[in-house]
Amino acid sequence: MGLTIVEKLIVTALVDGEMIKGQRIGIRADQTLSHDLNGVMAYLAFEAMGLEKVKTELSVHYTDHNMTQADYKNSDDHRYQQDIAAKFGIIASRPGSGICHSLHLEHFAVPGKTLIGCDSHTVAAGGVGMLSIGSGGFDAAMSMAGEPFYLTMPKIVNVYLTGKLQPFVSAKNIILEVLRRISVKGGVGKILEYSGPGVATLDVAERSTITNMGAETGATTSVFPSDEITKQWMYAYGREEQWVPLAADEDAVYDEVITIDLSLLEPLIALPHQPDKVVPVSEVAGTSVDQVMFGSCTNTSLRDVMSMAHILGGKPIHHNVDAGLYPSSRTVVRESIARGAYDKILASGVRIFEPICGGCNGSGFAPQSNGVSLRTTPRNFLGRCGTASADTCLVSPEVAAASALTGVITDPRELNLSPFVYEMPEKFIDDTDMFMYPSSEPENIGIRRGPNIKPIPEMSAMDDITSGEVVLKAGDNITTDHICPAGALYLPIRSNIPEISNHAFKVLDESFAERARQAGNGFIVAGSNYAQGSSREQAVIVPRYLGIKAVITKGFARLHLANMVNWGLLPLIFVNESDYDNINQGDQLTLDTANLQAGQQYILKNETKKLEIPVTTPLCQADIDAVKVGGRINWVKNKNKKSK
Ligand code: SF4
Repeated sequence: MGLTIVEKLIVTALVDGEMIKGQRIGIRADQTLSHDLNGVMAYLAFEAMGLEKVKTELSVHYTDHNMTQADYKNSDDHRYQQDIAAKFGIIASRPGSGICHSLHLEHFAVPGKTLIGCDSHTVAAGGVGMLSIGSGGFDAAMSMAGEPFYLTMPKIVNVYLTGKLQPFVSAKNIILEVLRRISVKGGVGKILEYSGPGVATLDVAERSTITNMGAETGATTSVFPSDEITKQWMYAYGREEQWVPLAADEDAVYDEVITIDLSLLEPLIALPHQPDKVVPVSEVAGTSVDQVMFGSCTNTSLRDVMSMAHILGGKPIHHNVDAGLYPSSRTVVRESIARGAYDKILASGVRIFEPICGGCNGSGFAPQSNGVSLRTTPRNFLGRCGTASADTCLVSPEVAAASALTGVITDPRELNLSPFVYEMPEKFIDDTDMFMYPSSEPENIGIRRGPNIKPIPEMSAMDDITSGEVVLKAGDNITTDHICPAGALYLPIRSNIPEISNHAFKVLDESFAERARQAGNGFIVAGSNYAQGSSREQAVIVPRYLGIKAVITKGFARLHLANMVNWGLLPLIFVNESDYDNINQGDQLTLDTANLQAGQQYILKNETKKLEIPVTTPLCQADIDAVKVGGRINWVKNKNKKSK
């Protein structure tokens, strides 16, 4: 039987376990990626391991997320991480050079290799045929230390593309269509592998828009073949010698197949507050728009910027609309200027920001109260844009540009413009001097730590009997933004757990932190797909720091589950989903955790309602053992103590 691309990638990187669906496997990380928002936790963990140098082929650190320098906090974090990079053999980008995933795709992603990055959109590198997976900071640190990255061998879904996109319908609409069909839970435990004749109609930037936002399906990652188009992309960035071809065997077998005819796609829009609430733009056309944000790693490649400039054409945007552009990389900025696109965009009245995450993670360009914001970003979770009362919708650059002009949600085909034609430059401007290389004298590098950087909290081992109050009962699809908020006020304090913990679940419940502290030992109960969204491990550390011992749900997002293991927070799943209704906020629960075993059922006692509720844990035995000692960090420390 032939192999899929995913199987070829995994078999090459496999260092532990067998490639059997549902089994735990360990893979080698050839490369790692980190950024300034999640990097502090990753590097504090890496320092604690006592190594002299990273053990990967390549590790790159980017400064793109936390860029507002309103005081010392972000600058402190940046300086700390630059010192770490120089000392431990990591390449670092200068602040403002571009968004990590876009820069990695341009300069470092290699077909056939593996990449572990402490950001959920690390999966963007699947656009060149790389096995790229998002992780928490601790897992990225372990990868830098040369330890295997563990995951459950996923199912492989073939997304078979036929046909060709019509004018003004771009790659964003392909991934919105995937989300419309399979939802934000549909990719959990799976990898999406793209194939079919439609693949050859998409360049690498378009493929990466699709793999990037594949994160929103909950998939472990997504991957495209590596073909002549990939080679052309790598040649354009001066890296053609790193290209290798990669395709599935003719007789490869998939667990599922989804077929999409690109010719039939129309402009789509994800409505508030989930990326899978997708409907045709025509269904909501005419709705008034207050803000338009062009940007993010998903949708500001040179193609995207040129396409929006084509539609805007220097015409003034509607007087009711505030519009802004966060481009994806310095190279995109320079190429856009050289092609006259920036002039058209500026002349239209769009504000131009530096190439950073910015408005995408709520650290700049928040809409007005109760405003409607159209964004080309990958996520529209409640409050992520920085304004909790705003309605955020996800669209393609073409819909965003057309709507900015008219002031209402607009199908760009209605503007009767000439079709946009794009030809990728044969060679992009050589912009590689944006990178700072590791020191040749690492022993002389001192690490500067500002007062914003607090030590990693110590996590205690689990007691045999866990009793406590249900501090919060939440619904389905709770996001990491709910648990640990995004936005300009909160991002700079993510390196300071005592401080950020005061804001846990704030968008849902102002008094959660206070109640959790008072409860001492506590539980969270939630519906399905708990903690979807980003890789931020603070979404585990903060509840754990506040005394939460276990989270009981109908299901968890993959990345969050891995972070729970690392930081010693016990995940439990209802055996009967209907038991969710048998627990209320404030109820007292008791669980005997002395003999936790993988795959077994346990009785959770609801002391308040005098009910016995069967639960199980989705973890394998190795992960259960790690949680019991207070997380994988303690597990590694214990292991090192024993080996001394
Ligand atoms: Fe940055 Fe937004 Fe991309 Fe995340 S999704 S890396 S916040 S641009």
